[in-house]
Amino acid sequence: MTFDASKIRDDFPVLERRVNGHPLTYLDNAATTHTPRQVYDVFEEFYAGYNANIHRGIHELSYEASVAYEQAHDRVAEFLGADGREEIVFTKNTTESINLVAYGLSQRLDADDEIVATEMDHHASLVTWQQIAKRTGATVRHIPVTADGHLDMDAARDLITDDTAVVCAPHVSNVLGTINPIEDLVALAHDHDAYAVVDGAQSAPTRPVDVGAMDADFFAFSGHKFAGPTGIGGLYGKRAILEDFDPFLFGGEMIRNVTLSDSTWNELPWKFEAGTPPIAEGIALGAAVDYLEDLGMEAVRAHENDLAQYLLRELADREFVRTYGPDVGEERAGLVSFNVKGVHGHDLSSLLNDRGIAIRAGDHCTQPLHDRLDIPGSARASFYVYNTRAEIDRLLDVVDTARDDLD
Ligand code: PLP
Repeated sequence: MTFDASKIRDDFPVLERRVNGHPLTYLDNAATTHTPRQVYDVFEEFYAGYNANIHRGIHELSYEASVAYEQAHDRVAEFLGADGREEIVFTKNTTESINLVAYGLSQRLDADDEIVATEMDHHASLVTWQQIAKRTGATVRHIPVTADGHLDMDAARDLITDDTAVVCAPHVSNVLGTINPIEDLVALAHDHDAYAVVDGAQSAPTRPVDVGAMDADFFAFSGHKFAGPTGIGGLYGKRAILEDFDPFLFGGEMIRNVTLSDSTWNELPWKFEAGTPPIAEGIALGAAVDYLEDLGMEAVRAHENDLAQYLLRELADREFVRTYGPDVGEERAGLVSFNVKGVHGHDLSSLLNDRGIAIRAGDHCTQPLHDRLDIPGSARASFYVYNTRAEIDRLLDVVDTARDDLD
């Protein structure tokens, strides 16, 4: 079950660009994906047609904007397998979503509690839990990463105990491409009455996700990583927990009744969406979900894995390249991090840019993981629905040249 990436490219005019005299080859999708016209057209429709604040005006434009914004929550809820819009809070991005959860949970943590995170966490998660631990006195412990780029699940079983209050892990590593056994981790957390928080930044865009089947208590994601606009992301949370949570931000929109001495909170999910939200971005996020559902998430998953396996196989034939994460043959998300012997990642990235090829070099917001791998950084090529094997061949040409020219 695949699709024709070359046809999909027609939906993304930016891919027709030339960069430094070469056709743009965009392989930095784990950072941000491009947005198809079906999604960015929403901005013109909104601003030319029904721009207004939501939930406030008894006038036609406000009504239309409110309905569209609410329906976007419904579409995202369906896309992720949530039980209705009440379980989907729109935020700015995964980082804000994790902060929202951490703030809510921090009210329930004390010095006897442990938070179990992982060595492969993105800083969005790692730094947030560090800070929550400092404020609450709780201790953070980290599930180690094995040499072949997996979470050490034996260590996880030892680390997650009755002292654990929160387990937080990425569903998919943004450096290793590893697809973590997230259902097992969630079950382990629940066996010890701990909350299970999943960083879905790299999984929601790349594979079918069913938060209900996963049984996660929270699942965070960013719209700009799945063909949506920047400035919008979301948090899935189980309704009962969100009902019970304190709001993260206060102000208009999130209240039901206000007196000079006290206030009560709005119903879910608006209780967590204080102030004027990113309305057009939220509606566009709904359009991004429609776009991906039309392609089929199972087909997206297969396409991502196909491209990753192709690049991994090719790099495996080059003894001067070291790749990180699961070996060829094991399914992974559409990204491969690697180093070319004797070539600094930034030099490689710059050489690629001269040929119009965009990748990312550095620590990818995972410094402790790079420390664990004993490398200062890595180059990362990451794919999305519009990428092709021919583009990977262009990358490989430059890798070979880099080795000859820069080594
Ligand atoms: N978590 C993971 C696994 C990521 O890959 C990223 C972004 O690269 C984030 C969190 C943070 O996403 P954002 O910057 O959209 O908040």
